[in-house]
Amino acid sequence: MVTISIKRPRYYSIRWKLLLVFLFISYVPLMFHFNTILTSIRDYFQDDRERKLLSSANIIAGTIMKGNHFMSLEDESKWTILDGELFSKSQAGGYRILLFDDRCYVVSDSNSTDVGKTMLIPEVIKALSTNRNASSTHLKQRAVYAAVPIANVDSEAIGAVLIVNSIDDIHQLVSDIQQKLILYTVLTSFIMGVLVLIVSQVLIDPLSNILKVVQKMSEGHLNQRISVNSRDEYARLGAAFNEMAEKLEKVDKIRREFVSNVSHELKTPLSSMKVLSESILLQEQLPEETCREFLQDINSEVDRLTSIVNDLLQMVKLDQQELGMNASLISLNKMVSDIVKRLAPLAEQKSIEILCDFVKDVAAEVDEVKMSSAISNLIDNAIKYTPDGGSVKVVIDADHQNAFVTVSDTGLGIAEEDQGKVFDRFYRVDKTRDRETGGTGLGLSITYQTMLLHNGAIKLTSKENEGSSFMLRIPLHYSKA
Ligand code: ADP
Repeated sequence: MVTISIKRPRYYSIRWKLLLVFLFISYVPLMFHFNTILTSIRDYFQDDRERKLLSSANIIAGTIMKGNHFMSLEDESKWTILDGELFSKSQAGGYRILLFDDRCYVVSDSNSTDVGKTMLIPEVIKALSTNRNASSTHLKQRAVYAAVPIANVDSEAIGAVLIVNSIDDIHQLVSDIQQKLILYTVLTSFIMGVLVLIVSQVLIDPLSNILKVVQKMSEGHLNQRISVNSRDEYARLGAAFNEMAEKLEKVDKIRREFVSNVSHELKTPLSSMKVLSESILLQEQLPEETCREFLQDINSEVDRLTSIVNDLLQMVKLDQQELGMNASLISLNKMVSDIVKRLAPLAEQKSIEILCDFVKDVAAEVDEVKMSSAISNLIDNAIKYTPDGGSVKVVIDADHQNAFVTVSDTGLGIAEEDQGKVFDRFYRVDKTRDRETGGTGLGLSITYQTMLLHNGAIKLTSKENEGSSFMLRIPLHYSKA
């Protein structure tokens, strides 16, 4: 057994795409900004801390220089006072204060842990060697070091004050800000995400409605329409779609009517042929004269069928549009003269006079076969629908763009309510009369179609019982529609 699996394409909703795009656009840059903002805040506080510690260290160094403590190291009482001062200052500032001599030997320590030790601290070394303030932040130890030199009267560095302060509080502050930013971001992103989904829903809803209608139409329900409630692009799309659906439905209706008309038109002669032939076959000893009469009737029905089929074939060719167009420069005067010559016997039978009024010599780029049959239909109709003894007139005129061929008659005329319909396929004003005249109801429709193909037009003016006039406007130069 062979199993055929049909792979259906997977569709993803625009809503989710919009949400993803929104998240991507808003969060990727935000992550970079977060990092920059947090680093700037931390740097600002660390710099500020360094500045403050340096200024405190400066004050201490100044006090020491003023008191000349380093010159009187042996004065025990002075040291005790200084140690006490440094201790209370370090308690108040929340930092550690150390005093160094010029060989990095710790002479005082507010923590009292490192007195008597030699400590090689870069900031102290720098302050001693350059006789300038030195400070830096040690991220690993999470501390700020600020060293200020102590100078003698000759401005030589004889010692240094070092203040060491933890920056845990700054880190704590930055991490608090970071947590809050993340919290607010998650909250706002959630709210924005919901808003994006709602907005996209509002935007996409009309599209889903359009899609539903299109799907129904593709299943064959051509009467579906999109309800247009807004004034945006969707409304324009809906209106354009409805217009297209309207045309599609019309074409479908015309197609169905056409098929039913064709079947009807073909059925009538076929049924009468069937009745006539059965009469001949079933009735024994049918008089020869009647038999002949029946055969003649059959023959005229065959003629009728042939003319319907010929007209249908001609229409099919016209429906192929530009594909079948074979335009060349043709003299319309000659074309009309030939047609009139061909139809003259028909007019003579009814004692109808055909008058030709060629105002100008006109040559136009037309498809000779199609145009000849279009004009022929008009003159043929004029003869057909004009009572005996009437007249038909053909006028040829032109301006610099178009040729005008007008066929008028003194015939039956066409009632106003029928004038718009005579160009429809199979439309005949009087069906019974037309069966006598042998009309198929396709002639004017063929002429109309031919005019469309040539980018021309046909205009009818008529008054019942007075006559009709059909005017063709034919562009002198053919261009595709
Ligand atoms: P048909 O083959 O029946 O003549 P047409 O399409 O040529 O079909 O014409 C459609 C109908 O228009 C005709 O049945 C006829 O009733 C009417 N008609 C056409 N031409 C004329 C005319 N010159 N005078 C009056 N009626 C006309």
